[in-house]
Amino acid sequence: MDQKITITMSENLKPKPADESSLGFGRIFTDHMFVMDYAEDKGWYDPRIEPYSPISIDPSSMILHYGQAIFEGMKAYRTTDGSVVLFRPIENMRRINVSNNRMVIPQIDPEYMVKCVKALVELEKDWVPSSTGTSLYIRPFIFATDTFLGVRPSKTYKFMVILSPSGPYYPQGLDPVKIYVEQEYVRAVVGGTGFAKTPGNYAASLASQAKAYESGYVQVLWLDGVERKYIEEVGSMNVFFVIDGKLVTPSLDGSTLPGITRKTVIELARSWGIDVEERRISIDEVFTKALDGRVSEVFGSGTAAVISPVGELFWNSKKVIFNDNKIGNLSQKLYSTITGIQYGLIPDEFNWIEKVV
Ligand SMILES: *Cc1c(COP(=O)(O)O)cnc(C)c1O
Repeated sequence: MDQKITITMSENLKPKPADESSLGFGRIFTDHMFVMDYAEDKGWYDPRIEPYSPISIDPSSMILHYGQAIFEGMKAYRTTDGSVVLFRPIENMRRINVSNNRMVIPQIDPEYMVKCVKALVELEKDWVPSSTGTSLYIRPFIFATDTFLGVRPSKTYKFMVILSPSGPYYPQGLDPVKIYVEQEYVRAVVGGTGFAKTPGNYAASLASQAKAYESGYVQVLWLDGVERKYIEEVGSMNVFFVIDGKLVTPSLDGSTLPGITRKTVIELARSWGIDVEERRISIDEVFTKALDGRVSEVFGSGTAAVISPVGELFWNSKKVIFNDNKIGNLSQKLYSTITGIQYGLIPDEFNWIEKVV
């Protein structure tokens, strides 16, 4: 697939945010967006960049009723030499097809999607902030557009990409977070949609998130949906434990999202000679070993935060504190290395960086 992207420039460009320290996350959007449509007889067609604007949607559009949709999350970074780069973008685009497959949405050529994202980011390059820790968040998404009330896969879809300049995730530095282990609700089950980035998974997590907030916790740790015993993820991040000096993370068994940051953490740790185990980990194992002083670090991994240290877990009316509520050495090294590569401070030995402009 290699269709030419039509570009329509916006006639009234928005002022760029003057104060990069108050960007926050996901609130400000750039001047243009990418759009492409799908129809059965045409395949994916009419790729275009047009002024960012609200879209009109028929009240009977299938997305509004049955949730057939997927999304991605990635970032463009301003490196120290002023370039704009992406981090492993082909991985996000391959994951779109994995999510599409589960949600019965037609496949798209991953290389072509990278090209579309690059074209949009290049056009919006002046929106990529440059202060430490800032980035241009990229949100590709696809949704069902048939106007029909009935449960079946849509025959038409829209693929869109929007961009949002974002502030540092940790304006105050990497402070460990307090996590509530969820025992009532589950996020996903094997055979369900947990491995796909599909909106329903996040809608299903809101009740638990609200409950955690009420109890003074910032995120939840998800257990498996069958036995409520094995650890799956933390909030919308993958989770890692340093147990007896080994890095341990739940295996990808179908209910866990295959994070690109997760993959990056595993590859980096192995390259440093650290033993990495992808296996089932029960919450009981973590609590038992933590009380014996054998769990030295816990952290979440994801594009938004990169590495998010966990300082405390609360489960079954019991609490454990990790590493005195301070960021651990490996967590810090992973964070510095990954962000160092993304911002061009460290040589990119793994060829993870793709320059846009
Ligand atoms: C996106 C996401 C992650 C992290 O994936 P990255 O590719 O590392 O950003 C982890 N868990 C869930 C549920 C997610 O949606």
